[in-house]
Amino acid sequence: MAGEVESARQATPGGDTIFGKILRKEIPCNFIYEDDQCVAFQDINPQAPTHFLVIPRKPIQRLSESSDSDEQLLGHLMSTAAKVAKQQGLKNGFRLVVNDGPDGCQSVYHLHIHILGGRQMGWPPG
Ligand code: 5GP
Repeated sequence: MAGEVESARQATPGGDTIFGKILRKEIPCNFIYEDDQCVAFQDINPQAPTHFLVIPRKPIQRLSESSDSDEQLLGHLMSTAAKVAKQQGLKNGFRLVVNDGPDGCQSVYHLHIHILGGRQMGWPPG
């Protein structure tokens, strides 16, 4: 946990990211969903029995840098998260997380929604 927070605090916004390489298929990744606006794939370091990410093809660095013109896309990411959660069998609920910036513990500066499920979540989150 401390290591993840530290690496997130040291993450530098801007430029290309690992998710850009995944989108361009420069590094292998099995998409569990894709369409013309977004893709979904399993998180490499799962924090729950089910943990996948939904990311836009458009390289928005972080939620706080999205613009009014991204409203349709942001809604599409949310509805895709729900659709893929259903496909993944998360019948008893799930959690969406969007980390934004250093205080939000964002480590990859390409907007993404975490979808976590398959266990009881706690509240408040850390
Ligand atoms: P953040 O901390 O920015 O909200 O989340 C970034 C997430 O991306 C982390 O949960 C991390 O495990 C995941 N991640 C980082 N690199 C890779 C990768 O190469 N492949 C996949 N599938 N997930 C990654």
